[in-house]
Amino acid sequence: MKENILNLDETQLSDYLQLLDQPRYRTRQIMKGIYVKNYEEFSRFSDLPKALRAELDTTFLLRSFTLEDQIVSPKDDTTKFLWKLNDGMMIESVIIYEGKRTTFCISSQVGCALDCKFCATGRMGLLRNLTSGEIVEQVLLMKKLSRQPVTNIVFMGMGEPLLNYDAVIRAADLISDPEGLCISRKKITISTSGIVKNIRRLADEQQPYSLAISLNAVDQTTRERIMPIARKYPLGELLEAARYYTRKTGKRITFEYVLMDGLNSGEQDAHRLLKITRGIPSKINIIPCNSDDPLYAPPPDEKVLAFDQIVNGAERTITVRNRKGWDIQAACGQLYAGNRRKSKQKTFIESIPIKQ
Ligand code: SAH
Ligand code: SF4
Repeated sequence: MKENILNLDETQLSDYLQLLDQPRYRTRQIMKGIYVKNYEEFSRFSDLPKALRAELDTTFLLRSFTLEDQIVSPKDDTTKFLWKLNDGMMIESVIIYEGKRTTFCISSQVGCALDCKFCATGRMGLLRNLTSGEIVEQVLLMKKLSRQPVTNIVFMGMGEPLLNYDAVIRAADLISDPEGLCISRKKITISTSGIVKNIRRLADEQQPYSLAISLNAVDQTTRERIMPIARKYPLGELLEAARYYTRKTGKRITFEYVLMDGLNSGEQDAHRLLKITRGIPSKINIIPCNSDDPLYAPPPDEKVLAFDQIVNGAERTITVRNRKGWDIQAACGQLYAGNRRKSKQKTFIESIPIKQ
């Protein structure tokens, strides 16, 4: 099978071109064609000799995905894409438009091993890691399809990015390359369920990307119940790692908190959330759970607002952002789950218009 050229970094591409006795400047020409011009076929690289274009075409793939499904929220244009990879597996990515900000939400793995009870991806189990090229390809493809230039990248699609650490960092490096896709490092956010070891590694390596931690519970018992990874990395150790990260990098982190009725969303939980995160430079993002399982239903709106007001201050009401894509189930893994059920039952995918 041909190798995905997006898996090569600049040094590897340059080594390959050297074997072909190509002049040094070819590396930058090709990098520019891939990441700046966003060409989808080698035949488009008109600044390269024909023989080299043919050579690249026999050796490499420039695109390895096909678009399997796409749904657009009629409310806010949030768009979800389901991609088929070249081994037939599926992943999803989402574009979220909010005024001038355009966020691409991308996947890092096919499925996820961590089995969080409220998460559709968790139900798939882990099928495999994505390569760095497959992570970057989501960005390149969505850039072509987005109606606004991308400003932010979040690793909040399928998978646990800190369990595919090397590929995720390599992809983030490519996505932020000033001579390539050139997305600001601070605006690339890695979201983790709490892989303590690798939160510390991010800090020790002074990785320039932003960090979000999916807290989702304020005590160990509840957290273990909804996020089994908490058994391996207990809440106390996670908060300690968060403190270490902020101290070491001087950066703020974001705590994500998915609200589930009767599980983690009472007023006492809100007060405890403030207490356990006190002293950690951070902001807290409240997300009403988006699940068709009644066990993990979101609280009624007034409870969501009351929670948010305790945590984020009385003057602020819940941000629109948290509700983006609600109607098309933009939480991770849900397009995939919907697609798999398609044959068995009528799903949301069939009930709203699909824009191809
Ligand atoms: N594995 C990483 C990143 C992918 S999940 C993590 O867990 O952080 C991205 C975010 O989606 C996490 O904050 C997770 O808590 C949230 N999420 C998962 N399922 C959800 C659901 N059904 N409703 C709302 N948010 C959900
Ligand atoms: Fe995996 Fe994140 Fe979903 Fe948990 S919430 S199962 S860690 S993708």
